[in-house]
Amino acid sequence: METRVIPVSREHLQKKDVAEAAQLLREGELVAFPTETVYGLGGDALRPDAARRIYEAKGRPSDNPLIVHIADTDALPVLARNIPKSAYALAKRFWPGPMTIILHKKKIVPDATTGGLPTVAIRMPSDPVAAMLIRESGVYIAAPSANASGRPSPTRANHVYEDLKGRIPMILDGGDVPIGLESTIVDLTGRIPMVLRPGYITIEQLREVLPKVAYDPAILKRVRDDSIVAKAPGMRYRHYAPKGELTIYEGDLAAVTERVRKEAEAKIAQGYRVAVLASEETKGCYEGLTVRSVGDREEEATVAAHLFETLREFDDMGAEYIFGECFPSAGVGAAVMNRLMKAAGYRIVQV
Ligand code: AMP
Ligand code: MG
Repeated sequence: METRVIPVSREHLQKKDVAEAAQLLREGELVAFPTETVYGLGGDALRPDAARRIYEAKGRPSDNPLIVHIADTDALPVLARNIPKSAYALAKRFWPGPMTIILHKKKIVPDATTGGLPTVAIRMPSDPVAAMLIRESGVYIAAPSANASGRPSPTRANHVYEDLKGRIPMILDGGDVPIGLESTIVDLTGRIPMVLRPGYITIEQLREVLPKVAYDPAILKRVRDDSIVAKAPGMRYRHYAPKGELTIYEGDLAAVTERVRKEAEAKIAQGYRVAVLASEETKGCYEGLTVRSVGDREEEATVAAHLFETLREFDDMGAEYIFGECFPSAGVGAAVMNRLMKAAGYRIVQV
């Protein structure tokens, strides 16, 4: 299958720019498209055959459910039942935007889309390309991130092309995404609203609307613990991982940079290809080593925006060992550290 890459402009978007993509979706085919978080791999959420194509293209385990993207809150009662008031309160404040809610599904949503779960994940994206694609196609779009399963999520069209070329008919290329991390997932099906995945919308922001919202225990655990059943099934799988072995060092920054430097030099002496994951503030500490700055420590959003791209760069350079610094975990930092810990397979060393 040939994969066509179609440039689209966020600023000067016209209906005709997404017409072919919309048609493909109506036919049950797949289209990768930009959102404000990461690129998504979309298919008709109400068609089991489209959902199965998504799993196949990504090589994703079929019990890992998809997020259904909508363009209007009117879609909520179509897809979900027993919708609590909290759903509308969150929607009013954070939609369109990088927040996903989990609700009890209606029968119309096939098991293939929800990985067999009785619940459905729903999000209304703010990206103009995504919004227009949903409206023009007239379908609810099931879309996980448009990466091959296990690889870092794609933040630009060529990441999607690298992973899925020949497997999907079309990629809408809207340039770099603004946020760079996946949506915050909030489960509203239990007694207490639970954050199943941290994202750009922070728990502090959610608490302004729902004061009781809490983190799912599985997020806070630093080590794999099978006694805690991951509620977002995606949390069970190896995720976001670069091909090389990534280790993160945590502690006083000066001590961390010194330790990272030492570990990197030791592996180089053994003949390995080594890279360092650093920040704007610290990249100067690693003279002579292969270093990538992921962003500015003082501005977590810059780290969020470049994390996945940087992990992919390590793959491109064939890094066998990667040594990285920890980042502050306030605000969006919680989501950054969640992804970084997963990418490191929870190899965190206290310095
Ligand atoms: P992705 O967009 O690739 O991050 O994949 C969607 C994420 O949403 C996965 O990690 C899923 O585990 C999560 N998700 C989707 N539907 C549900 C659901 N019904 N309950 C819990 N988590 C879900
Ligand atoms: Mg994903």
